[in-house]
Amino acid sequence: MDYDLSAQNTFRMKVRCSCYVEYETLKELEGLNFDRLPRPLLHIGAGSNLLFTKDFPGTVLHSNIEYIKYVDMGLDEVPVMVGAGVVWDHFVAETCRHGLWGAENLSLIPGEVGAAAVQNIGAYGVEVKDILSGVVAFDLQERRKVRFSREECRYGYRDSLFKQPEMKGRYVITSVLFRLSRKSGPRLDYKGVREALGGRDCVTPQEVREAIIHIRRQKLPDPDEIGSAGSFFKNPVVSREDFVRISPDGSAPHFDLPDGTVKVPAAWMIDQCGFKGAVQGGAAVWPKQPLVLVNQSGEASPEDVLALEQRIVNGVQERFGVTLHPEVDHI
Ligand SMILES: Cc1cc2nc3c(=O)[nH]c(=O)nc-3n(C[C@H](O)[C@H](O)[C@H](O)COP(=O)(O)OP(=O)(O)OC[C@H]3O[C@@H](n4cnc5c(N)ncnc54)[C@H](O)[C@@H]3O)c2cc1C
Repeated sequence: MDYDLSAQNTFRMKVRCSCYVEYETLKELEGLNFDRLPRPLLHIGAGSNLLFTKDFPGTVLHSNIEYIKYVDMGLDEVPVMVGAGVVWDHFVAETCRHGLWGAENLSLIPGEVGAAAVQNIGAYGVEVKDILSGVVAFDLQERRKVRFSREECRYGYRDSLFKQPEMKGRYVITSVLFRLSRKSGPRLDYKGVREALGGRDCVTPQEVREAIIHIRRQKLPDPDEIGSAGSFFKNPVVSREDFVRISPDGSAPHFDLPDGTVKVPAAWMIDQCGFKGAVQGGAAVWPKQPLVLVNQSGEASPEDVLALEQRIVNGVQERFGVTLHPEVDHI
């Protein structure tokens, strides 16, 4: 195990891999001798949605394709081509500085542009699919460049074609095409955003960005200071009957979905089970947002995080009869 991955995952798990490869261009990626690389292959971004549960026996790949190209600044809808290795928030910061609308609500989300298109990242009422118009990727199976339209990416809630079991790991995203707007289009309806802007409606993308950053900093751990991978669990979707059983008086926070099912915040369930601030070895539940598990001591092992995850899953199952599923990718 040659390469230390602790700086390559925001949970700061001290794990290693056999081989680590970075490349600067699509051409360099195409030219890699894949047959000689230790298997399996795993492509990562900033490692901010990953939990390495042990050393990785194969090759970890990482993109350093870093460019932001404004295809035509003269248009109302500005196409922007962005390399997969660009830090997501650098892209957002730059487009807000240029006064372009679209990405501002997604400010401060950790990670890189390629992964954002895999994950369909979302926050404050916006998802990446709302501003993405296409993806360029390298097909590791057929060893050729491929393009996907937004429709072909099959986006859903934190989901895409690239996350489907039969497709996982097949495509390396090398660049993403976004479409941003010069026309004012703030989306301020999500709880807390309008308040953070002092009730103003007439704002710039930069002002919205600053408001979002302000809100996020109050709730979420800064990955530079404390290890985590953001929301650890997905919010469960239950039947209406189950929701009535979970909350007979209907007072639990919930979102009614168009198909009649109900989404219940996992954070609320975890809190109700008394796990807020719970500690397991070096790992803990973040008190300000119980959906986030953190490497509190900086020395937490994968076993600590897995044991805490299991305690929470068991607790929620016993109390509510609901199985929580992780959002974080277990490697
Ligand atoms: C404090 C904190 C807050 C967060 N808040 C949010 C939030 O508000 N909303 C949200 O949606 N997410 C959030 N996240 C989760 C995380 O930021 C996103 O999932 C992000 O997109 C992960 O990017 P990454 O570059 O770190 O990808 P990684 O974690 O390295 O990888 C994620 C997945 O993408 C794949 N992948 C990475 N790069 C490529 C590529 N070039 N081609 C093909 N596949 C690739 C990996 O194999 C893996 O399956 C948060 C995380 C943290 C730590």
